[in-house]
Amino acid sequence: MSTQEFDKLIELLQPANQKGSIAARLHFDDQTGSPPDEEAKKQLAQLMALAEREAHELFTADSISQALTGRTGLSLTEQRMVDRLQLSHDMAKRIPPEFVQKQREHIQAANRVWIEARQKSDFTLFQNTFTKSVELAREEAIMLGADSGRPETYYPALLPIYEPGMDFARLREIIEAVQGPTVDLLGRITSSGKEFTDKLWRGYFEIDRQKSLGQTAAWLMGYDFKRGILKVTVHPFMSTVGLNDCRITTRYDPTYLPQALGGVMHEAGHGLYEQNVAEAIRRFITVPLVHSHGIHESSSLLWECFVGRSKPFLQFFHPILTALFEQYRDVSVDELYQAINRVMPSFIRVEADELTYNLHIILRFGMEPEILAGNIKPEDVPAEWNRRFKELFGIAVDTDANGCLQDIHWSHGYFGYFPTYLLGKLGAAQLFAAFVKAVPSWQEQFRMGNFRVLLDWLCKNVYPYGHVSAMDDLMVKATGEKLNPKYWFDHLEEKFGQLYGLN
Ligand SMILES: [Zn+2]
Repeated sequence: MSTQEFDKLIELLQPANQKGSIAARLHFDDQTGSPPDEEAKKQLAQLMALAEREAHELFTADSISQALTGRTGLSLTEQRMVDRLQLSHDMAKRIPPEFVQKQREHIQAANRVWIEARQKSDFTLFQNTFTKSVELAREEAIMLGADSGRPETYYPALLPIYEPGMDFARLREIIEAVQGPTVDLLGRITSSGKEFTDKLWRGYFEIDRQKSLGQTAAWLMGYDFKRGILKVTVHPFMSTVGLNDCRITTRYDPTYLPQALGGVMHEAGHGLYEQNVAEAIRRFITVPLVHSHGIHESSSLLWECFVGRSKPFLQFFHPILTALFEQYRDVSVDELYQAINRVMPSFIRVEADELTYNLHIILRFGMEPEILAGNIKPEDVPAEWNRRFKELFGIAVDTDANGCLQDIHWSHGYFGYFPTYLLGKLGAAQLFAAFVKAVPSWQEQFRMGNFRVLLDWLCKNVYPYGHVSAMDDLMVKATGEKLNPKYWFDHLEEKFGQLYGLN
């Protein structure tokens, strides 16, 4: 394959890319504004499932298999893209198009059942749907190479969908390395006698002003509104729906400011990643491409936590905040910093602080392989969740909505997704440490509102190839070593050591 043949391959991928784009637009429509009527939702689900099936059929066609063979005369970048396309194509080939369609229809229906069960905080309403989600995930795992006679192989077989190149043993090793020091640091913080309140983030915050604040933050980060848009949804996400069309969403709580602001910075962090992939990748970005969700999450968390919760950012942002919400006029930057970084074990993953967040993932990582293997039966999930939660967090879960029903992922059957959030935290810390080394004046730059220095560094070292690299490979390229939890703990020790006076 030469460079001309590579261009031909990209052309050949366009029908699959266009169908993928249609599916993504339907999904965005579904999540950001469509009538709640049952029949209307059902039709939208059917159209989405059909578009996904057709994209899958087009992507797995023999003509694509042939076009992917013979690789000489390619640049290193093109070679990487072809390797990733080959992996995605090989994985997709194992899944029949009918399954893709069936799975999407189930996901959309399951989503509606889960919403109702969560509202009523009653897992029994969701149990049958959940059982079906587990069955479909097992079916998919077997297609991807799991051995039906060895149920422990189900979970590892699903991991490459979310984290290609990361095997189960390596993932377990990383997660085990995180648990001990997290629990230890939490213990030291709890017994430090110091407590911070988040009262100053609570009150009344007009939605229009929150929207201006979020847009300003995203704009400062470098999110390109000419190639993107910010919309409202129930469960925030970022979605690239086509060429130069990368959309972000958030939700507003009129009584709590950080939810939308942190959410916008998080999703804009995902958006920056997508808006700055290599030009060639942008031309096939909506084919069913497997990519590292951990790297993606590194970008969003880097902007949300390492920028948004840093003191230099708050120093620059304080006057903007005050201009929109005058209750902050008499609040110091130190008080804002303490309130946004307080550590407090709580039930809900998405509301967790930087430290205890990973315990939420460790809980799910402990259960998911067991659920798939049949060692935890669907009807036992709430009790098992509550037991493990008490063990890890030391507090008793009060309701299913605050427990096993809180997340959307299991309704979708996305087993194997959660660990990518933990990998993202570790990756963000490691990338930020490398950035700090490369730009020692970063605090001064941030204080002046120059966040471009970080974007430039990411555009040089991470974004162009994130979509086509395994997490460890990208970390080696950007930071000189594989993913290493050390940087995450260095960050936590420095931040919380200082905040809670631990040293
Ligand atoms: Zn995210």
